[in-house]
Amino acid sequence: MNRQNRLLSLYSTLLDALGPSHWWPGESPFEVAVGAILTQNTNWANVERAIAALRRAGAMTPAAMRELSPEALAGLIRPAGTFRVKAARLGHFLDFLAREAGGAADLADASLRFLAGRELSELRPRLLAVKGVGPETADCILLYALNLPSFVVDAYTARIMSRHLFLPEDASYDELQAFFADVLPADPALFGEFHALIVRLGKTWCGRTRAKCETCPLHSLR
Ligand code: SF4
Repeated sequence: MNRQNRLLSLYSTLLDALGPSHWWPGESPFEVAVGAILTQNTNWANVERAIAALRRAGAMTPAAMRELSPEALAGLIRPAGTFRVKAARLGHFLDFLAREAGGAADLADASLRFLAGRELSELRPRLLAVKGVGPETADCILLYALNLPSFVVDAYTARIMSRHLFLPEDASYDELQAFFADVLPADPALFGEFHALIVRLGKTWCGRTRAKCETCPLHSLR
């Protein structure tokens, strides 16, 4: 079996076993992007509490969030941890949106429609230039908020791809991403579901120090 068929077989085995993931939760593209920044180094339950506070404060548009002082924003996102750092990162992201937007009407709209038609190759480097936005966060925003085919890589992806002999253990983020982009059709729905399934698989079965291969849905593919 070639590597494309092997990878697609891994995907369909996972999807059959685990079912659709319905990622990424969020009431708007802006909220999804905010969640991608808040989820750095914390669990999703904490992010949800921070997002609920932002919603209650009416801060879930770029314009409304920009009205908050850094202290007020940090206070609202406190449940997400490292809240001053994350408030600063959100501030940098809001500055980016303000630079990219066509005017006040764009910033009052949580759909981020002004970014939707951009080319991935143009938008990704601009997002990566935002302070505090690394490759994984940028790709989460591009894929889940803007529906662009930018595969999200994380530690689970690296571990599972190496344990299934697709790539060496020390493959870089860019090498892993290029591998998926090269082998799979550029389909945001496929990319989004595949990443979500990998995370679910990694959390339950494919631990860093312990792989529970006997009960894993991918057992027969090893
Ligand atoms: S737990 Fe084992 S079978 Fe499952 S993904 Fe990890 S290495 Fe593969």
